[in-house]
Amino acid sequence: MAENNQIWTIGRILKWTEDYFGQKGVESPRLDAEVLLSHVLGKQRIYLYVHFDEPLQAEELACYRAMIKQRIDRVPVAYILGEKEFMGLTFKVTPDTLVPRPDTEILVQAAVDRLKQWTDGTVRLADIGTGSGAICLSVLSMLDGVTADTVDISPAARAVAEENAATLGLSERVTFHTGDLLTPIREQQFTAILSNPPYIPEADIQELAPEVRCKEPMTALSGGRDGLDFYRRLCDEAPPMLSDDGFMAFEVGIHQAEDVARLAEASPLIVRTEILKDYAGIDRVVVAWRK
Ligand code: SAM
Ligand code: GLN
Repeated sequence: MAENNQIWTIGRILKWTEDYFGQKGVESPRLDAEVLLSHVLGKQRIYLYVHFDEPLQAEELACYRAMIKQRIDRVPVAYILGEKEFMGLTFKVTPDTLVPRPDTEILVQAAVDRLKQWTDGTVRLADIGTGSGAICLSVLSMLDGVTADTVDISPAARAVAEENAATLGLSERVTFHTGDLLTPIREQQFTAILSNPPYIPEADIQELAPEVRCKEPMTALSGGRDGLDFYRRLCDEAPPMLSDDGFMAFEVGIHQAEDVARLAEASPLIVRTEILKDYAGIDRVVVAWRK
């Protein structure tokens, strides 16, 4: 950061950072500069706009500089802050967990809309590849009377999900497992089995933004040669674990929905599928019903 005798005010440092991020190829330079600075100051973003002339304290400046350095190294903003907002809740995230994406809110809302119809208080949910726990914990926070099991192959991700459950006051309603897909919960029955599995085709990995390709866990992203490896296993193994009127619902990558619906329909236990779009009009969620 260029040094001179001028005082670093909020307005001046934001402009400087926006330009610097822009030169370094950061995709949303102004937004990132604002989000990081408001975090350092412990204020809402709107505060920055009405305090453009306020000078930064030395410690605030030092802290902000360290964040700028990380962002230039393409560390995602959520990892720098250690948190990400999802479904209006704040989730702790670390480099061991995927940063929850807005698209995944479609899966959560789809599950909530469908689970609302169960009124007998015995709804059981499974979230496979839970990462930060974003999917499962959001559903639980919106629906009373639902309990859940989560599985992740990463013990470090499981620890983050457990911490998020505790922070959200949901620990008593969740059982966490470490293991491979459905293996740890094989003997159980569920009303709904949800998953946002790794689904990026191998050949597309190198096309991902450096923030994703270099900083997010590859075990969270790579879905094998055509990206469908996890859906093949889930569609084969999950249907017998659904209760009679239950469903499974998966987030899918672009152009994958029809293939995944076909994989689900290949199970003799699945009678009907739905495909739901995201905010950009892309097919994003496949729901498959046992009845
Ligand atoms: N559910 C979180 C979300 O939507 O933000 C994380 C989804 S991330 C795309 C996929 C997750 O699946 C990662 O946390 C990864 O560790 C986990 N995973 C990868 N392979 C797995 C396997 N064989 N069994 C269980 N979990 C697995
Ligand atoms: N949506 C993520 C991305 O585009 C991928 C997540 C996944 O593989 N499920 O980076």
